[in-house]
Amino acid sequence: MRGTLVATGVVVVIALGYVLSCIIRPFRDCWVCDGKAHHRSKRNPKLSRPCRWCRSTGKRLRIGRRAWNRVRRVQRDA
Ligand SMILES: [Zn+2]
Repeated sequence: MRGTLVATGVVVVIALGYVLSCIIRPFRDCWVCDGKAHHRSKRNPKLSRPCRWCRSTGKRLRIGRRAWNRVRRVQRDA
């Protein structure tokens, strides 16, 4: 019983920390291009092309923030 309570508390704290971090830093570096907005072809390393995943911004909206934006949009449209 006590273990369950502690586990729930830990999960809540982690979730709150994640939510806070999404508010403080909604963007993270793109995992495809490492935030460089361009990525190099594996066959020809000299060739660099704009990253499609981040639309050559080098930043991606975090999953938590994207979910939050979706919730806000649904609330606004209702
Ligand atoms: Zn990228």
